[in-house]
Amino acid sequence: MSLTGNAKLAGIAGWPVGHSLSPRLHAYWIAEHKLDAAYVPLPVRREDFAPAVALLPKLGFRGLNVTIPHKEAAFALATEHDEAATATGAVNTLVFEDGRIIGKNTDVIGFIGMLRDAGITTLAGKNVLVHGAGGAARAVIFALTEMSAAQIWILNRTPSRAEELAKLFSGRGNTRVEVVANNMALGMIGLVVNATSVGTASRNSDVAPAPFFHYDTLADETAFADIVYRPLETHFLAMARSTGLKTIDGLGMLLHQAVPAFAAWFGVEPKVTPALRAHLLAALEG
Ligand code: NAP
Repeated sequence: MSLTGNAKLAGIAGWPVGHSLSPRLHAYWIAEHKLDAAYVPLPVRREDFAPAVALLPKLGFRGLNVTIPHKEAAFALATEHDEAATATGAVNTLVFEDGRIIGKNTDVIGFIGMLRDAGITTLAGKNVLVHGAGGAARAVIFALTEMSAAQIWILNRTPSRAEELAKLFSGRGNTRVEVVANNMALGMIGLVVNATSVGTASRNSDVAPAPFFHYDTLADETAFADIVYRPLETHFLAMARSTGLKTIDGLGMLLHQAVPAFAAWFGVEPKVTPALRAHLLAALEG
C-alpha cells in the first residue's frame, strides 16, 4: 500500500544491517494489516548511534530495533527500561514516546515463544544446559528462569562471563544457576541451548560446539534449541537430530521477539503464523 504523509515509522539500526531479516518481517505484517507505516533498515555506524537516537523521534520515528554493535549503547541511552531489559542489562528495542526513550528486551519473549511453538510451555523440574554468556544468553537465561527451570548450567568459552551471569540470575524464582566446564558430571538434562554465535553461516563454522556433549547424560526426550537461524539447521542441531533428539531452530525467536515491538510502534498485535515463517524461510534460502 502507498504511504501518506502521516505514515508511522520504525526501523532497525545496525552496522552492518544489510543481512537483517527484520525489514522483510515487519513489511509482511504492515501489508497484512494494511497499515500506513514503514519499517526501514538504518545503517548506523557506532559513533553515529547516539545522534541518530536523538534525531529519529524528531523525524517522526516511533522506535527502533537495535542490533550489533548498538545493544549496549541502546541500554545506556534509554531513559527507562522494561523488566526484561533491567534484569538482563540488554536492550534490543527502543520505543520513542512523548520525549521518553523506553528500552525493551523482547528477545526474552522471543525465546519463550520459540519454545512454546515446539510444545515446551514450562521447564518446571527440568535441568537446562546453556552454551554462551553474551547478550543473547542473558535473555535466554532470564527466559528459562521465567519458565521455572529447576537448574541452569552455563558453559562458555570465557568462564568469567559465565560467572557474571550465574551471579546475576542465581536464585531468581526457584532456579539454581551454576557455571560448568563441560557436561560430563551433570544430572539429567532436559534442554540444551546454543546461545553462542558459533554455527552462524560464514562465521566460526570451524569451531561448532560439538565436543561439549556427552550424550549419555541426555534423556530420550532431551531437546536441543539453537538461537542461530542462519543456517536454519546448524551443526549443533544436525548432530542432535542425527542422534534422534528433538531440535528447535532459532527462526521462531526472531519472529516472536518482533511481536511486542510491532505492537508498541504500530498499535496492532501481529500473529506469528506458518505463512509468515514460510515467507522468512524463502528469504533465508534465497
Ligand atoms: P555476543 O554478545 O557477541 O556473545 C557471543 C557468544 O558466543 C559468547 O558467549 C562467546 O563466548 C561465544 N562465542 C563466540 N565465538 C565463539 C567461538 N569461536 N567458540 C566458542 N564460543 C564463541 O553475541 P550475542 O548478541 O549474544 O548473539 C549470539 C548469537 O545469537 C548471534 O549469532 C546472534 O545472531 C544470535 N541471536 C539470535 C536471535 C534470534 O532472534 N534468533 C536473537 C539474538 C541473538 P565468549 O564469551 O568466550 O566470547
